[in-house]
Amino acid sequence: MSELRGVGIGLGVAHGPVARMAEPLPAPEDIASTRTPEEETARVSEAVAAVARELEARGAQAGGAARDVLEAQAMMAEDPTLAQEVSGRVTAGKTGEYAVFAAFASFRDTLSAMGGYLGERAADLDDIAQRVIARLRGLPAPGVPDPGHPFVLVATDLAPADTALLDLDKVLALVTSEGGPTSHTAILAREKLIVAVVGVAEAAGLADGETVIVDAAQGAVTTAPTAEQLEQATRRADERKASASAPLTPGALADGTAVPLLANLGKPGGAAEAVALGAEGVGLFRTEFLFLSSNQAPTVAEQRTAYTELLQAFPGKKVVVRALDAGADKPLAFLNDAHEENPALGLRGLRALRASEDILREQLTALAEADAAAEADLWVMAPMVSNVEETAYFVSLAREYGIKTAGVMVEVPSSALMADRVLAIADFASIGTNDLTQYTMAADRLLGSVASFQDPWHPAVLKLVKATADGGAAHGKPVGICGEAAADPLLAVVLVGLGATSLSMAPTALADVRATLLAHSLDDARRIAEAALAADDAASARAAAQAAAR
Ligand code: PEP
Ligand code: MG
Repeated sequence: MSELRGVGIGLGVAHGPVARMAEPLPAPEDIASTRTPEEETARVSEAVAAVARELEARGAQAGGAARDVLEAQAMMAEDPTLAQEVSGRVTAGKTGEYAVFAAFASFRDTLSAMGGYLGERAADLDDIAQRVIARLRGLPAPGVPDPGHPFVLVATDLAPADTALLDLDKVLALVTSEGGPTSHTAILAREKLIVAVVGVAEAAGLADGETVIVDAAQGAVTTAPTAEQLEQATRRADERKASASAPLTPGALADGTAVPLLANLGKPGGAAEAVALGAEGVGLFRTEFLFLSSNQAPTVAEQRTAYTELLQAFPGKKVVVRALDAGADKPLAFLNDAHEENPALGLRGLRALRASEDILREQLTALAEADAAAEADLWVMAPMVSNVEETAYFVSLAREYGIKTAGVMVEVPSSALMADRVLAIADFASIGTNDLTQYTMAADRLLGSVASFQDPWHPAVLKLVKATADGGAAHGKPVGICGEAAADPLLAVVLVGLGATSLSMAPTALADVRATLLAHSLDDARRIAEAALAADDAASARAAAQAAAR
């Protein structure tokens, strides 16, 4: 038995025989073409167009997020700059196969060097190149294997075209040797609730047919498992199934203490799924989606329509909308145009809105109008608030527009440390653990090389959560959590033990968190939180909490 480590996506566990993704086609040789450049160009254009159309067709068949991803990939295939790179090589006498291979490889290297989100798109380019070369050679496109029985799919990294059409009855779990938590494998595994562990460096050593346990909660792949381990994995998988189909009760601890479970949403269209999964309201509505695709702010009318649609999906329920959070990982041309060495430490979030106050005023106008047209309980908060003065600025501006409940996101350590003053003014706080961890640990949340520092279990982060919750409690004001940390069931218990009054997360995470909260009383949660706070680092905090929870 041995354990290979990676990054788990979600909390599922599954086991079964490995089936490896077909190895990529051998690289074409750099030999002179026997065709004219015109003939080669025509062959390549036909193959690229055919691949793009096939990707679109797969997208249309898959629907949902997969369609967007595959359409983007089809556009990437037909990117004019890439076409130019290919044509330059063909004109120089290369074969179409080699020209495609070399041009895509050079683009891939550029993307990889950028790291983060763009780096993780590198696999997309490889996949497109393989498909085009296969077509030029008259071979079938490389893809998901079909061993004729359910299997654990092992691959270097899955391309969107593969994940989109995975037959969920056959694929027990996914293991990739590359790719991080924002790779397509991870995004689609989350959306389709497929058990997945990504970035398992040693996955290349797994052989077809060998039985493995894929444990996303532990971020581990166990090879040659014992009968007892297999039994335990089956039991855990069954328990998860039971919790997923458990009744959609409001979030609560074992002693009945209410912990409202809310949804993080990025588009009003996500409301129906959130309600179906038992969300008791919205804890974070990210308004960036309205702004990201255009080069100017949407009009008040456009915003009002979107906010009204959202609020009408939650009659009588709390809906927390965040004012536009632009900058750093969410840059917006019309708000963040100046070059900054360190955009995460720059004019971002509320600072950027304040510098373009008309945009903030328009957003508040649209929100107040939507509020008047719906029955939801609208709360509005500002992103990236770092001091008391900014809190007072935002709350008083929101009141000018008749917003009844105005609060701040606590994502910067300074706000957490000043929470007793901040919450004397704000009606509520919501802790964004993604950014709070980034700033506490000085670790860029988009940078793979410092990903190990980006762990919200770190006791330094937990202490800041406690300071914020204490600040809220001193004034009887609610302090919720809306970062990814709330979606980790045991960490959710810890956060409640530290004083968080509600938890907001991706709707697919609600069932696991609901079930885990129900297993612990408030006294338990406080004791488990104490154990985590007393640790030296993130890994020991997690281990201490696990031991205390047993
Ligand atoms: C956070 O920082 O934790 C958060 C919820 O905001 P975002 O992830 O949108 O920056
Ligand atoms: Mg944030």
